[in-house]
Amino acid sequence: MKLADGIRKHGFRKWYERELLNSHAHLVLTFFCVIGLFAAFEALGRFRSMSDQLTDLVAILLCAVIGLWALRRYLALLMHAEATAHQADCPSCKAYGRFKLANDTGAERQQEDRTAVCCSKCQHRWTISG
Ligand SMILES: [Zn+2]
Repeated sequence: MKLADGIRKHGFRKWYERELLNSHAHLVLTFFCVIGLFAAFEALGRFRSMSDQLTDLVAILLCAVIGLWALRRYLALLMHAEATAHQADCPSCKAYGRFKLANDTGAERQQEDRTAVCCSKCQHRWTISG
């Protein structure tokens, strides 16, 4: 979910929590794929027929591809959430994560990679990239 949509729908703290949960779900998937890889390599030596060995090789390939994709996704989601969280301090009053989307007016219109926000405590405005 894009940052502006997530903040608008859930607020920053919930958006951040959801991003972390989503990223760690991908880490769990990576862990399951590693277990699948170990099991498939263990079974590879026990299968005698060619069809069983081919099926096991397909399982190894699937576990490796899905595991690498899940690991990449885990790191991307985690890095995005952390990079955004490091910009969540209000530059004026240092309140963490207490902001809402700034109104889209004139030059502060929401851009693709930058989100204009407004502090809920002191009304200071700044942009968050990501
Ligand atoms: Zn503030």
